[in-house]
Amino acid sequence: MKEIFNFCAGPAMLPKPVMQQAQTEFLNWNNTGCSVMELSHRGPEFMALAAKAEQDLRDIMAIPDNYKVLFCHGGGRGQFAAVPQNLLTGSGKADYVVTGSWSQSAVSEAKKYGDIRVIEPVREVNGKKQVLPACEWQLSSDADYVHYCPNETVDGIEIFEVPETGDIPLVADMSSTILSRPIDVSKFALIYAGAQKNIGPSGLTLVIVREDLLGRAMNSVPGIFNYQILAENDSMFNTPPTYAWYLASLVFNWLKQLGGLAKMAQLNREKADCLYQFIEQSSFYENRVAKQNRSTMNVPFYLQDESLNDEFLRKAKEAGLLALKGHRSVGGMRASIYNAMPLAGVKALVTFMQQFAEQHQQ
Ligand SMILES: *Cc1c(COP(=O)(O)O)cnc(C)c1O
Repeated sequence: MKEIFNFCAGPAMLPKPVMQQAQTEFLNWNNTGCSVMELSHRGPEFMALAAKAEQDLRDIMAIPDNYKVLFCHGGGRGQFAAVPQNLLTGSGKADYVVTGSWSQSAVSEAKKYGDIRVIEPVREVNGKKQVLPACEWQLSSDADYVHYCPNETVDGIEIFEVPETGDIPLVADMSSTILSRPIDVSKFALIYAGAQKNIGPSGLTLVIVREDLLGRAMNSVPGIFNYQILAENDSMFNTPPTYAWYLASLVFNWLKQLGGLAKMAQLNREKADCLYQFIEQSSFYENRVAKQNRSTMNVPFYLQDESLNDEFLRKAKEAGLLALKGHRSVGGMRASIYNAMPLAGVKALVTFMQQFAEQHQQ
């Protein structure tokens, strides 16, 4: 079979060695005679797997001891609701930094629970979007927390600096950037991420939360969204997504073997540079994000002649390059090049784009 490269924004491709290991162990995991997905989450075998996965993640991200790691349900959108229900109980006010479509969706949900102030730091300069430096965001002094999205999956906008918020807890939706490069967890009060981009399959959501933020939740928060309850029960307040948790454990292991996040960041930089540099020198394609905010994970681009979009997508598919259609809200194309995408996939895409341009350029 011809090699296929899947550029889907999520659920996204997973590392091949991970998928192969899962296949090998599918019917008989660890000599239990059962599939992982058939084991009790409270049995010793799964409990050991779960604990190991958490420890591996702690090692990879260097998560300090005063943070809890929660393996939850509900995806990124679940956290759009869970975050305010757990944290919006002091002044009842929060600052939301809107830099694209996901942070905008987070606002819509949070508004149900309190007084949400929106900060919009995206500017367009010479047809390219850029984000104002965080020191110019004009955050409130009495917010219960500041929420932002370091990587906007749809818009391809990434914020590389970590905003300084002093004593105000900083909350980040890292769904599409987690594990792509090292971060200093201690600068954040809470990090969350749906698994289906860089962690594993859909159905699992990671929350990394500083312990002093537990116990502030609204009375009305559902138990399965209450961070304190989840922490007290080692994320087993109800049945967790066990198979997704297992696959995540394989991904963490893969990352460790590869050399951790520093190595991953280097590989991701190489892939992103390869694609952006090609687009930059081309008059046939265009990316509309300023260099300092170009996402290393999601690369949206446009054909100058948009009437060729359908043909581009059809021929890309024939060449084994899948899911390049941009999000319906922004149009154009988007190549998502998460951790699991090899450099060979990006090179295959660049070669295809070059050939397609040559065929259509006068
Ligand atoms: C994919 C994504 C989400 C939504 O995740 P769901 O699991 O579908 O709810 C939220 N935020 C960001 C940044 C994302 O990339």
